[in-house]
Amino acid sequence: MVPFSRSKRGFQMMTKLQDTEVVCVSRREAVARLMAAGVGMVSMLRGNVARAQLGAPPVVTPPPDPKFPIPASWKTELRKLGPNVFAYIQAGGVGQGSGAGVSNAGVIVGDDHLLVIDTLGQPLLVKAFMTAVRNTIGNKPFGRVVNTHQHSDHVGGNQFFMPAEIVAHPFCRETVIKMAAALPPGAKFEKHGGWADGTEDRRQIVPGTTVTDKLTYYNYNNGTAVEIFHPGVAHTWGDLMVYLPDYKILFAGDIAVFSMTPWTHNGYVTEWLKVLDKIMGMDVETIVPGHGPIGGKKELAEVREYFLILKREARKRFDAGMSPGKAAADIKMGKFDNWIGAERNLLNTFRLYCEFDGTITPIWDMDRLRRAIDEYNAILKARG
Ligand SMILES: [Zn+2]
Repeated sequence: MVPFSRSKRGFQMMTKLQDTEVVCVSRREAVARLMAAGVGMVSMLRGNVARAQLGAPPVVTPPPDPKFPIPASWKTELRKLGPNVFAYIQAGGVGQGSGAGVSNAGVIVGDDHLLVIDTLGQPLLVKAFMTAVRNTIGNKPFGRVVNTHQHSDHVGGNQFFMPAEIVAHPFCRETVIKMAAALPPGAKFEKHGGWADGTEDRRQIVPGTTVTDKLTYYNYNNGTAVEIFHPGVAHTWGDLMVYLPDYKILFAGDIAVFSMTPWTHNGYVTEWLKVLDKIMGMDVETIVPGHGPIGGKKELAEVREYFLILKREARKRFDAGMSPGKAAADIKMGKFDNWIGAERNLLNTFRLYCEFDGTITPIWDMDRLRRAIDEYNAILKARG
């Protein structure tokens, strides 16, 4: 029995780390690093249906804090945010499955094509997205895609939007090249109810255009600027955001994740906080997060608060010589313990420790992480 199940309320009991089959030791290690770099998010959030792979155990979800409310769930919708600007939000929250693994997307309508921000990660989810676009916006071709970052729930659907131009940060492109190379010939999407029926061919299309700093398009909405820019290291080393200054709309990718715990497995919390401050200083009213419901600066401030509290508490314990697994089990995050995906507190604490001891890189050290997970799980299970 898992002592801290929230299953009665629709939460996942456990979150598993990886779902990618590996076939031999040498390949295993190579793919482990790759998956740590790029494929974590989708599989991480598949909860009970995912297989533990690469030796990394699932992480026990901490108990909710009864003193605070559970965030409201949200529905799938294609919402118009401004003239020719739409956000596609996928359902999540209590009663909606884990919710945290299904990402959002955006659509900007040009004269002769559509620009899509992120391509989701699974064929049936992409199909539903495309159907919503066709029913609401029409049949213009998908001419351009922006991948906000390398995670497979943001780039995994690229193949369905071809022959669109795909734009990404160079770091994202480099990672996706490795992800594409790791796919075996004849690969299929893994069967998963509502996501894939197991027959769909799987290819990873690599972004063909890169943006290192900033790129502005003026050919949407009669000259309205669409700014694509790299705000600095945050959720990954290669994040892009899409900003429409005339409408004060920001598509933030996973730099903003609302009503659920942000996820730093390829991130750098201190740099991420700087980026959040940068966004707080921008002329923005509407923020489309990479996951969760549409929000604004109020919701972004909560993400900032989460990181500030976790960093402060982790630092205290780091300075006291406590291990990351013990520290994460010891830290109480209050209202943030009720967000979807609270087991990421362990993973985020682990990344903070890598910051503190100067070992942080764009990917995680799987062996060290595994030890932290084992320790954390043992403590939480013993409490049960
Ligand atoms: Zn991500």
